[in-house]
Amino acid sequence: MANMSNKSNVMPLLDPKVRARCFDEVSLGYDEETAINEANRCLHCKNKPCVSSCPVNINIPEFIEEIKKGEFEKAYEIISMTSSLSGICGRVCPQETQCEKACIRGLKGDSVAIGRLERFVSDYHNKNEILEDFNIEKNNFNVAIIGSGPAGLSCASDLIKLGYNVTIYEALHVAGGVLTYGIPEFRLPKNIVNKEIDRLVKMGVEIKTNYVIGKTKTIDELRKENDAIFISSGAGLPKFMNIKGENLKGVYSANEFLTRVNLMKAYLEESDTPIMKFKNVVVVGGGNVAMDASRCALRLNADKVTICYRRSLNELPARKEEVEHAEAEGIEFNLLNNPCAIIGDENGRVTGIELIRQELGEPDERGRRSPVAVEGSNWVLDVDAVIIAIGTSPNPLIRNTTGGLTFTRKGGIEADEGGVTSREGVFAGGDAVTGAATVILAMGAGKEGAKSIDKYIKSKK
Ligand code: FAD
Ligand code: SF4
Repeated sequence: MANMSNKSNVMPLLDPKVRARCFDEVSLGYDEETAINEANRCLHCKNKPCVSSCPVNINIPEFIEEIKKGEFEKAYEIISMTSSLSGICGRVCPQETQCEKACIRGLKGDSVAIGRLERFVSDYHNKNEILEDFNIEKNNFNVAIIGSGPAGLSCASDLIKLGYNVTIYEALHVAGGVLTYGIPEFRLPKNIVNKEIDRLVKMGVEIKTNYVIGKTKTIDELRKENDAIFISSGAGLPKFMNIKGENLKGVYSANEFLTRVNLMKAYLEESDTPIMKFKNVVVVGGGNVAMDASRCALRLNADKVTICYRRSLNELPARKEEVEHAEAEGIEFNLLNNPCAIIGDENGRVTGIELIRQELGEPDERGRRSPVAVEGSNWVLDVDAVIIAIGTSPNPLIRNTTGGLTFTRKGGIEADEGGVTSREGVFAGGDAVTGAATVILAMGAGKEGAKSIDKYIKSKK
């Protein structure tokens, strides 16, 4: 029966006091009854605005229709036709700016909670260990994929289903890209990521870890062994502020900090990855990375964690839900402040950060009002650690070791919407092309790359 409530079903959450000191998942997921109740809010619209607002065009009303009937596995099959990473997207995609933003129910109340339903369906499938039948007819073409983040994984998933031999080359010792080393356990449990990767391996994708393209092997060498290459090496090079004191002990890039915590499990007693103990941490930046870093710092037992952002709450680029979760856990927000120096003691250890207050001026080219420093308003915040989360760019290794590719001013590989680059047989997508973006856009780029590679190889036959 249709559910005409204007309110979506609330996502149950772990108590903020409990979760602020442990790495357990914060959002607990819908149960079957709640999922069916939420699904019944969907009007199964004819023109499906939610579908056209999903970067990979998941058939949203159809999978929700199956949930209404309690046919959860059928719902999973429908999602899997377009998405190989539903458990991940259901957790970290910014649905509020995509499918849910376009949902008709959002005109008079809450949108249908599409992301929560996607997560429910994927978790149901995983929990019930339903065996899938991977009967794939092979062709004899080889494709190499560089990087095992969402772009590489979704490209691999589509190509293996088309019969290609697919090998992913990953620089780190574990696959998954940012999903594994960046986004923390409490937001995206690693068993979910591993399940999605295991599924691809069962389908026949080979993953070679500890394999740095540009060092272990070059793209030229790889090209000789493969019919096509897809570069999805991400944008993992951290940006710094270029202010005094950035080389002091206790200053981390968010990437390094999160890698130590998530990949090397620095928070476990038995972990041999060193991480300094700190009491009073400032995280500079306002995106998802800043929220993740601050919440990890709190879970490493810091007494106080402050986010310092140069604009106001309205401009914070992080997902609203993540900001609310961070606030509930006790993260403090120091808005309209910008660092101008990091201060240290005689042993080279951080003791504070000098900030200057900001006012919002004219909008920039993206429509966001630009921060303007208030002269003479400098002040010092006492901290013993500074985590810098102001963005990343593509690592220059591939650029420096590969001929025939062209690059944007910001270091991204130039490629069209299908991932076609300036070099024949070499395709690219995800953050390596766009710069730091989102999981679903990277996934979409991987899918487009797979289509272009298939077309290219077939045209050569
Ligand atoms: P990546 O995920 O970066 O994967 C690239 C892979 O390539 C890495 O594993 C890297 O080791 C490997 N690699 C690099 N160079 C080489 C080489 N030379 N040889 C071999 N391998 C190489 N997006 C969201 O949608 N929602 C979120 O909530 C969200 N939170 C985020 C939180 C954090 C902390 C971070 C850092 C990002 C977050 N993002 C989020 C952004 C999102 O994770 C990225 O946009 C997405 O992962 C990009 O996918 P990708 O496949 O292009 O690259
Ligand atoms: Fe259902 Fe909303 Fe999509 Fe309409 S727009 S089909 S109500 S999810």
